[in-house]
Amino acid sequence: MGMKGEKGTVEPDYSNPAFLKRSREKLEKAKTDVGKKIASFFPICGPKGRPQTNPDWGAEATAQFNAAVIVQALCVNLAAILEALARIENNTYGICANPLCKQQIPLDRLEACPQAIYCISCQHNLEQRLGLGTGHWVLDTVLCPKAKT
Ligand SMILES: [Zn+2]
Repeated sequence: MGMKGEKGTVEPDYSNPAFLKRSREKLEKAKTDVGKKIASFFPICGPKGRPQTNPDWGAEATAQFNAAVIVQALCVNLAAILEALARIENNTYGICANPLCKQQIPLDRLEACPQAIYCISCQHNLEQRLGLGTGHWVLDTVLCPKAKT
């Protein structure tokens, strides 16, 4: 089996098997962690039965609302992880997912946030359009709370 011809449009770092292996491992671990976190909310907002009765219904409502917000953020994170894993498989990992851009995502960004699928510029534009337009990398905060972008 010969090597597949590379057209030279991708920087070596992005097709480096060690880099991709390390990224895949980080993403698989993150997938497991996020999946466990989502599962931990099922007793609170699961479909079966009523939640534990709290005599303080105001506090109960607040807890339910907070749980829903957290689960939503975790689901966004999980979707990004799965997309990044798919992009490793189809050799587009590290390339901005905006079809009009397709710039390479800086390596240090991928190191800090392996599930990043947009370059900084496109993510900023996306956040503006989603009404998150604070310029503080809202999605990165959801995706990679520890990342300092
Ligand atoms: Zn881009």
